[in-house]
Order: sequence, then structure tokens, then C-alpha cells
Amino acid sequence: MTAAASDPDCVFCKIIAGDLPCKKVYEDEELLAFHDIAPGAPVHFLILPKVHLESMLHVDEGHQALLGRILGLAPRLAMEQGCNPYPDGGFRIMVNTGLEGGQEVAHLHFHVMGGARSWKKGQAN
Ligand code: 5GP
Ligand code: ZN
Repeated sequence: MTAAASDPDCVFCKIIAGDLPCKKVYEDEELLAFHDIAPGAPVHFLILPKVHLESMLHVDEGHQALLGRILGLAPRLAMEQGCNPYPDGGFRIMVNTGLEGGQEVAHLHFHVMGGARSWKKGQAN
């Protein structure tokens, strides 16, 4: 992997290290999931790799298994967190990338959003 293990200035690395609190949804050796501090949907949590990888544009072949694990985990966590059953329910997975992609935190994270739909298509917040 090309990513640094962690970045002392990164807010998500601080959460991973336990230096900042979060409302945890899931944790294992490689991944952490926690509720978004400013939810844009009734269910809104983030899944991220513990390794400090800045964005989708910093992903290479060595990260394929990691990304596969995130996508594999998302449906299970979404349902556990209260997303409604398919097909009337469901959820959205979103990965903002770079300034023009709406990325605010430079540590790769997958938004998982769902629940009764007052939230708007394409919006994170
Ligand atoms: P981005 O715009 O980078 O895709 O999304 C960053 C998300 O992280 C935003 O939805 C924002 O509300 C959330 N966020 C930023 N700082 C914190 C924090 O300290 N704790 C938690 N739980 N979420 C955060
Ligand atoms: Zn980080």
C-alpha cells in the first residue's frame, strides 16, 4: 500500500486512534464505521479504512480487497442500522472525491444513507 498508516492532522485518523469520540457502528482490524455527526438521512453512517488513504483517487490495485470488504459490509450494516427492506427501502452508498466531488474530510470514507425519504437525491447533507 502507498498510504501512510495514519496522519496526525486527520480528523478521521484521530477518531480511529480513539483520540476523538464517535458513535461506533462497526469495527474490525481494517475498518471502522460510525454515525455521521451531521446526518443527511434518517440512517447515515460512514465506513472507512483504518489506514489513512486520502480519497478514491489514491486507490490502487493493492486496495481492491479493502474496498471489496467495505462494499460487502455496507448492506449488512445498513439493515442493522434501520434501513428499510428492499425494494421499497434500500440505501445509497456515496464516495465524495476531491473538492469538486464534495469531499470535506481527506480520509477515504463511504457514506451509507437510507431511511424514510425526506432527503434529496445527490445530497450528502
Ligand atoms: P465528505 O464531505 O468528506 O464526503 O463527508 C465528510 C462527512 O464527515 C460529513 O458528512 C461530516 O458531517 C462528517 N464528519 C466530519 N467531521 C466529523 C466528526 O468529527 N465526526 C463524525 N462522526 N462525522 C464527521
Ligand atoms: Zn486519516
